Amino acid sequence: MQAAIWAYPWDLLDEGVETVADRLGEMGVTEVNLATNYHSVQTFLPHNPERRTFFAHASSYFQPGDGYDGITPVPNETMGEDDWLERIVEEIADTHLTLNSWTVGCHNSRLGMKRPDLTLESPHGDSLVFGLCPSNPAVQSYLTNLVEDLDARAPFERIELETFDYFYGTGFGWHHDKYHTRLGTLGEFLFGLCFCDHCRSNAADAGIDVERARETCRTTVDGLAEGNLDPERSVEEWLDGHPTVADYVDVRTDTLADMFRTLGDAVTDAELGYYVGFVGADRSWMHGADLEALADSVDFYTVMAYESSREAAVEQYQTALKLSGDVPVHAGVLPGHPSVYDSQTTREIVDGLAEAGAPRLSFYNYGLLPEHNLTWIENALETYPN
Ligand SMILES: [Zn+2]
Repeated sequence: MQAAIWAYPWDLLDEGVETVADRLGEMGVTEVNLATNYHSVQTFLPHNPERRTFFAHASSYFQPGDGYDGITPVPNETMGEDDWLERIVEEIADTHLTLNSWTVGCHNSRLGMKRPDLTLESPHGDSLVFGLCPSNPAVQSYLTNLVEDLDARAPFERIELETFDYFYGTGFGWHHDKYHTRLGTLGEFLFGLCFCDHCRSNAADAGIDVERARETCRTTVDGLAEGNLDPERSVEEWLDGHPTVADYVDVRTDTLADMFRTLGDAVTDAELGYYVGFVGADRSWMHGADLEALADSVDFYTVMAYESSREAAVEQYQTALKLSGDVPVHAGVLPGHPSVYDSQTTREIVDGLAEAGAPRLSFYNYGLLPEHNLTWIENALETYPN
């Protein structure tokens, strides 16, 4: 079983790439999933020698190449003229570590603020600035250019995709969220269901009564907000009773499958992976992702098994496996707050996923975990020497 760890450029550069590589070698970790293009973030860094926190707007951690048309990643301000990715590529070449790109796609509030015409549009017509809409051809080009650029500029073994999909909902705590209304899963889903020009036009082409779908979403969100509908109601059941909206939702899965074919063709040197299960692997469809349909275009999935017990982690893994077609499923593990608080549970989760057949685990995350949590990873991986 292979072992990787997610990391930020500042984790490696502040501590020194060689020092981090030595520590990861002791732990049994052989791969780094390095953030390359990322959403806005504030980190707490318990063992960083230079700082305790790092704040960044959505940005790239490299200087973008010339191959972009229309939308270009915004390089991180702290980086200045430097190119963190280039430095890490150079320095990591002398270590035992292989490098993967941890690549955030549609969740980008900086690009969304700059270009509201590219964002998801709520049923009520609001621009949801935290998420670019993958139905928009300009966004599709941006995502394709991004992975092409990454594939060409660095010897990544894997390019891993996060939020290359419909990033619906309340925006993942992106900016002082103020929700004092109980929308429930259904309300959050419908609030974030995109009705931009491109989503509407795709659905109209498929013969769907778009205005009816939109009106149904609007009245349901408002009904939930007013407390007239049950916020605990299952989204699947609700869609069964509202086939126009269900058909509207289905069109997005075809759009995403088409886009993934383009992404798959764009990446020639690295393996392509896609992160699933941020709200449960069985709810991938809520992001427009039909894992069986995307299976032709990716080399693997990584399911987020950020659970507190072996049973729950294995259940996430097995759910993803059932949905994934023939594509191998890797797993992400969070051996820290708010999921896991001891070495024994870390070991149980790792053993459970290994026994369930996971060929590779990724741990979240080098700079965010305290030193003693890194030791838990080391203990858990003792059984799986690389
Ligand atoms: Zn849209």
